[in-house]
Amino acid sequence: MTSGGDSVQPIVVAGAGIGGLAAALALRAQGHTIVLMDKVPALEEVGAGLQLSPNACAVLDQLGLLDDLEPFACAPDNLRIWSGGTGRQLATVRMGAFLKERHGYPFWQIHRADLQQVLLRKVEATPGITVRLGCAVQDLTATPYDHLTCGFREGDAAGSQHCKALIGADGVWSKVRRLVPGHANTRFSGQVAYRTTVPVDAVPGRWSADPGLWLHRDSHLVHYPVRGGRDLNIVALAEEAWQDERWSTRADRDALLRLFREWPSDVRNLLAASNEWLKWALCSVDASGPWSHGNVALIGDAAHAMLPYMAQGAAMAIEDAAVLARHLPQDVRNIPAALRSFERERKSRVTRIQKISFGNARTFHFSGPLAFARDTALRLSKPDRLAARYDDIYGWTPDR
Ligand SMILES: Cc1cc2nc3c(=O)[nH]c(=O)nc-3n(C[C@H](O)[C@H](O)[C@H](O)COP(=O)(O)OP(=O)(O)OC[C@H]3O[C@@H](n4cnc5c(N)ncnc54)[C@H](O)[C@@H]3O)c2cc1C
Repeated sequence: MTSGGDSVQPIVVAGAGIGGLAAALALRAQGHTIVLMDKVPALEEVGAGLQLSPNACAVLDQLGLLDDLEPFACAPDNLRIWSGGTGRQLATVRMGAFLKERHGYPFWQIHRADLQQVLLRKVEATPGITVRLGCAVQDLTATPYDHLTCGFREGDAAGSQHCKALIGADGVWSKVRRLVPGHANTRFSGQVAYRTTVPVDAVPGRWSADPGLWLHRDSHLVHYPVRGGRDLNIVALAEEAWQDERWSTRADRDALLRLFREWPSDVRNLLAASNEWLKWALCSVDASGPWSHGNVALIGDAAHAMLPYMAQGAAMAIEDAAVLARHLPQDVRNIPAALRSFERERKSRVTRIQKISFGNARTFHFSGPLAFARDTALRLSKPDRLAARYDDIYGWTPDR
């Protein structure tokens, strides 16, 4: 593969999800020309809530997006942790003003579609970025004169695009990953997330007053406001063998209620308040595997999809975008070396956060004496201490 940074050739970014859109903007800010491809013909309003911690907001600020995002975001002051067995509150975690003062950036909860639309509008308004929808990136080949060609499928037709690098931001089921020898594979966790949003007026006010995290044997529940406080995002997670690649498979509310049959009746009433449940099989990609090879690099879920137990999946994709761009100035001479140094810089942080989220996947679902010990520790914890425990994650900024 070639190594030079021919400034006339574009960088192809595969995937216009959260990481791909952020990477297109960050790389363009370095002076590169960008072709951003997504396999879907239209970026539809899919998904539900995402959390944008201060570390992600620091990058979004660098991209000039915080003002555009603010009307869609919610920044509640506290997260309350509850026992799904007894229905009693276990702990309060400070968020909102506390985290903003501590780290300089807000902790936001937002609908994925709102975040994607704000990023997309900025991408479309940025000269030097071409968006090509309906193009599924397949491969990267070197031509005899050491030029790189990215191959893609557009409907039934094969297409090609000359480029100097290919960034795989194509999500947990990445195809670009196959271009990185020794890459990690997507692994199903044995857990499924049921997701819905309901208007906040459709449920009792306690559900939107403060975001909640409910813990119970083999299952847990998260709820928080999105869409500027108009809707409540509800995610119910449980152990289940169902596996599917799609994000938008319809789920049966009665099956969900059966999974949550031992939960308090007010939680079950909340679950019953929506008949529009979607389900999503939780998968991960081992972050310690390789993320780059020659002129190809992976970012976001393609490189290191994680379980949503630290709410850092989108944040890590956004951080990747900023760090990748810093390693690829416009006059970069050796792209493979730059991509390797991007990978080196990111790997220890992302691997550590992925491990914490695996650990939470176990502790959130404890039963018996382990659950008792966890709940006792939570009851004894001070709200500020619980919030400060992740200082090194939330306090990260994109500058060296
Ligand atoms: C439809 C959808 C809904 C989601 N909903 C939620 C949610 O409700 N809550 C949550 O926490 N997380 C959700 N996620 C995941 C979340 O967006 C990611 O975990 C996180 O933002 C990391 O983003 P990413 O850019 O790495 O990947 P993603 O945001 O998953 O984006 C990947 C993009 O790559 C595109 N793509 C895939 N293959 C190719 C290819 N061969 N060529 C070109 N493009 C390709 C996909 O169409 C997609 O747009 C959702 C992801 C998707 C795709």
